[in-house]
Amino acid sequence: MHRLEKICIEKGMRMTEQRRVIARVLSESDDHPDVEEIHRRATEIDPRISIATVYRTMRLFEDAGVVERHDFQDGRSRYEEASERHHDHLIDLKSGEVIEFVNEEIERLQKKIAEEHGYRLVAHRLELYGVPLKKGE
Ligand SMILES: [Zn+2]
Repeated sequence: MHRLEKICIEKGMRMTEQRRVIARVLSESDDHPDVEEIHRRATEIDPRISIATVYRTMRLFEDAGVVERHDFQDGRSRYEEASERHHDHLIDLKSGEVIEFVNEEIERLQKKIAEEHGYRLVAHRLELYGVPLKKGE
């Protein structure tokens, strides 16, 4: 069984055959696909899965906290399996490529800012947008 499917079952979610396929697609993805891409990958396994089913399932997974939805400012929601290992994202505006990173200094700084305002930090989102550096420019 794939990781996400197992977590869904542990959370008491009813896992239909189609939900299982969608969970599997997400577990096997190491990028940040949108609903259309998830649908394309899911129909390679089961061609009967509709885009409406993918939308509904992603909302369900998101509400259950088993996937994370991202808005990388291109008008499409992107998804990834919620992981215990936190990371932030750097988006290449030219290619659309999404790079994952963790920076301890930033993590520390964010905690410090929250504390300075009298808060304990429980979550954050950080997205960097960039274009490739070119030598000689
Ligand atoms: Zn990510």
